[in-house]
Amino acid sequence: MKGLLGGKGANLAEMSSIGLSVPPGFTVTTAACLDFVENSNTINQQIKDEVLLALQEVEKNSGKKFGDIKNPLLFSVRSGARVSMPGMMDTVLNLGLNDDSVIGLAELTKNPRFAWDSYRRFIQMYANVVMGFNVAILESTLEDLKEAREVELDTQLTADDLQELVEVYKRIIFEETGVSFPTDPMEQLWRAISAVFSSWNNPRAIKYREINDIDHSWGTAVNVQSMVFGNMGDDCATGVCFTRDPSTGEKKFFGEFLINAQGEDVVAGIRTPQPINDLSKNESNKGLQTLQEAMPKVYDELVEVYTRLEKHYKDMQDIEFTIENDKLFILQTRNGKRTAAAAVKIAVDLVNEKILSKEEAILKINPEDINQLLHPRLDPSATKNVLAQGLPASPGAGSGVITFTSEKATALNESGVKVLLVRQETSPEDIAGMVASEGILTARGGMTSHAAVVARGMGKPCVAGCSEIQINYATLTLKVNGREFKEGDHLTIDGATGEVIEGKVPTIAAEISEDFANFMSWADEFRKLEIRTNADNPEDSETARNFGAQGIGLCRTEHMFFEAERILAVREMIYAKELKEREKALAKLLPFQREDFIGIFTAMDGKPVNIRLLDPPLHEFLPHTKEDREALAEYLEIEVQLIDERCEQLHEFNPMLGHRGCRLGVTFPEIYKMQTRAIIEAALECKKKGVEVLPEIMIPLISLKGELVLLKEECIKEIETIFKETGEEVKYKLGTMIELPRAAITAGSIAPEADFFSFGTNDLTQTTFGLSRDDSGKFLPEYINGGLVPVDPFVSLDQEGVGFLVNHACVEGRKSNPKIHMGICGEHGGEPRSIQFCHDIGLDYVSCSPYRVPIARLAAAQAAL
Ligand code: ADP
Ligand code: MG
Ligand code: MG
Repeated sequence: MKGLLGGKGANLAEMSSIGLSVPPGFTVTTAACLDFVENSNTINQQIKDEVLLALQEVEKNSGKKFGDIKNPLLFSVRSGARVSMPGMMDTVLNLGLNDDSVIGLAELTKNPRFAWDSYRRFIQMYANVVMGFNVAILESTLEDLKEAREVELDTQLTADDLQELVEVYKRIIFEETGVSFPTDPMEQLWRAISAVFSSWNNPRAIKYREINDIDHSWGTAVNVQSMVFGNMGDDCATGVCFTRDPSTGEKKFFGEFLINAQGEDVVAGIRTPQPINDLSKNESNKGLQTLQEAMPKVYDELVEVYTRLEKHYKDMQDIEFTIENDKLFILQTRNGKRTAAAAVKIAVDLVNEKILSKEEAILKINPEDINQLLHPRLDPSATKNVLAQGLPASPGAGSGVITFTSEKATALNESGVKVLLVRQETSPEDIAGMVASEGILTARGGMTSHAAVVARGMGKPCVAGCSEIQINYATLTLKVNGREFKEGDHLTIDGATGEVIEGKVPTIAAEISEDFANFMSWADEFRKLEIRTNADNPEDSETARNFGAQGIGLCRTEHMFFEAERILAVREMIYAKELKEREKALAKLLPFQREDFIGIFTAMDGKPVNIRLLDPPLHEFLPHTKEDREALAEYLEIEVQLIDERCEQLHEFNPMLGHRGCRLGVTFPEIYKMQTRAIIEAALECKKKGVEVLPEIMIPLISLKGELVLLKEECIKEIETIFKETGEEVKYKLGTMIELPRAAITAGSIAPEADFFSFGTNDLTQTTFGLSRDDSGKFLPEYINGGLVPVDPFVSLDQEGVGFLVNHACVEGRKSNPKIHMGICGEHGGEPRSIQFCHDIGLDYVSCSPYRVPIARLAAAQAAL
C-alpha cells in the first residue's frame, strides 16, 4: 500500500505483520496530506479524531501515555512519500517531552543523562524542522560546552551539562524567534504532522520531483511511531546495514553502528561508527569492536531478520535498526540503492539462490541504468570541481584539452593529444572532429540535437545545451561562471550527469561481466521484438553487433558524404547544371559508396542491413566558409561568384519540409540510381566472398503512394540491369519510411507496394506536431515543465498523437499486406516507454543507436513480461 502509506509506512506495517519487532505506531496517509494541502494547510477534524484514536491504541499497546509526566510515551514523527525523496522534512525524535516529563523520564529510567540527552535532541530537531529555526547556533553552543568541559564526545557530557544546555537552547530560541518552545505535547504533534505535510510543497521537494519525474499529486504520509532508545546506555545502540554490497553487489552483509546513540548519529559522523561484523571492516575501522563481538545475541538476531527480509522483499535491503537494552528493533527497511553493476549481480545471484525467477529478475532492473555499464565513467573516489551543468546527452566520461573546431580536434588527435570538442552546437560537418574527440560539449541544443544524437550513436560522452558556458570562436575561449578557459586547457565532462568539470578527472573503464552477459541472455529469451541498430559505418555496426544487434534498421547514406575527398564530388553533383555533368560527379561517388556498403555488409554478415537513400536537403552539403567556396570554385574551375549564386538558388525557407527525401529522387533520379547500384554491387561482391548479405533499400519521406511506385520502379530497373550485366543475383527488399502523416494515414494503400515499413518517428513527431525539432528549444522546455506535454515528444513517443498514426499505419498496412515487416528507427527506438508501445502494437523490430542496443533488449523483454 505504498500509494496510501508511503514507502516507509507500508514497509513498517508489513514488517510488523510478519512478526518482526517494530515499535508500535500509526501512519497518517497521503490522502490526508492532499486534504491538508487543499484546505489551506489545516488538518480536518475527522482526521484529527482518527489520529487521537490511533494514539490511544498505541498507548494501550505500550503501557505508556502520551503527555504523561511520570511515564511519557514519546514519538518519532517521520515523513515518507511513495518513493524516498530528499528535500522532504527530516525526522523529529523524542516528541512529547517537556520540562515536566523529562524529569519523569529521568526518574522512571533512573537515567537522567539519557532523559536530558533525549530532550536536548528533541528541541534541536523540532526547532530545525518544524519551526524552521537555523540550528547552527544551537550546534555551536553544544560545541562550546564540550570545549568548556574539555570533552570530545557528546556521550561524555553529564546529565547536568545537558540540562544546562536545554536551558540555553530554549533561551536562544525565545530570543531569536520571540516565541517560547512549545511545551504541550499535543501541540507539538499537530505542528509536526502539519510540517511534514507542508514539506511536500517546499521548493526543494518540488525541484526534486521535477528532476525525477515524480507526480506532484501523490502527497506524503506521516509515520508517528513510539520511540525506542539507543541512547540509554552501553547495552543500547543504533545502526544501519546492507544485506549485500551496494557498489559491487557482492553477497556480503555489512553495516555500521554506534553504541549509546540515537537517530542519525551514525551517518552524521558524530563519532566513528563501528563495523557490525568482520566483513564490514576496512582500513579505517580496523581494531574497532564489531556488533558481533559486542552483542553477539543481537547480532545473530539481526542476521536472522535480514535473511527473512531479503526473502520477503526478494531484494537487497537497506535496514535501519536500534537496540534498546539488548533488544533489537527494526525501524526501516527498503530496497537498497545500488550501482548498475551491483543491480545486475544481485539480480543474477537472487535467481541462482532461487529467491527470484528469471522474469522477476528482468523486471527488477531499470533499462536506463544499464547505460552505466557500457561506458567509461568518472572514478567515484576522485575529487571534482563542477563548473557548470548541461544536459546529460550521451553517457560516459571524457577528459581532454578543449578545442573549438573540428579541424583542430582532428589535428590534435592525430598528434596524440586527447581533446574535448566544444561547440556552440554541432552540424554534420563536425563529424570528423567528434570522432577525434573524447567527448563533446555544446552550449546550445537539446537531448535530440545533432551533437546528442551523433554522440550517442558513437558511444561518446556528450553534454549538450550547457547554457552556462559562453563560447567565443574568435578568441578561442570559453567563459563559465566568471572563469575563462583557453584552447588547450583541460576540462572533463560527465555525459551521464551533464556535469562540466575543471581539469582532468580520472575515469574507470567499462567492463562487461559474465553476470551481465547471462542476464542479457535471459532477457533475449522473453522478448518478442527484434532489436536492430542505426549505424552508418563498419565500426558502429561491429559495436552494435557485439551488443547484440540483430541487424541494421537504419543506415543513413548521407553521413558518408562528408569525408574530405567525397564532399567535393558531392558538391560537384549539386552544382551540375545538367544531367550529364551530374552523372559524371555521381560516377566519382559510386566507388566510395560501394566500399562503405561492402564494409557494413561484411560487419553484419548474415544480418539484414536497411539502407536509406539520400534524405537531407542538398544545401546541407554546400560550402559554408569562404575558403570552402574558393576551394570548390578552383576544383570546378568556375568563378566563386557562380558558387554563391547557386547557394542562393538552393536556399530554402523551410528545408525540413522542402526539397529533400524522395523528392530528390523524383527530381534527380540519377542520385538514387547511383546509390542503388552501389548497394547491389556491394552485395554481389560480398556474396562472392561468402558473406551472407540481406540488403534492404529504403525510400524516405514519401507522402504519396505514387512516389513509392515511381522510385521503386526505377530502383528495380537499375537492379535488373546490374543482374544482367553481372549474371549474378542477390535477394533484396524494397520498402519505405513512414514519417509523414499522409503516408501513415494512407498506409493501407501504400503497403502492397512495400516489403517493409520503417517508422521514422523523429520526422513523424515534427510533422504531426507541426514542430521543428531544431527550433523547439525556445519553447518546448516550458511546455514540459508546465505539464502541457507529459514528456519531451522527441525523447519518448507521443502515444496519443504520433502513436495513433503509427498504430493506424501498422493495422492498415498489415491488412493489405500481411507479409510486411515493420519497425521503428527514430530515436524512440531506444527509449523504454516507446519500446513498450512498439511491442504492444505488434511491430517486428525497433532500431536504436549501438550503445542503446542492450537497453532496448532489456526494455523489449520487460515489455513482453
Ligand atoms: P530518513 O527518511 O531520513 O531515513 P527516518 O524516518 O528513517 O528518516 O529517521 C531517521 C532515523 O531516526 C532512523 O534511522 C532512526 O535511527 C531514528 N528513528 C526513527 N524512528 C525512530 C523510533 N521510533 N525510535 C528510535 N529511533 C527512531
Ligand atoms: Mg533524513
Ligand atoms: Mg531512515
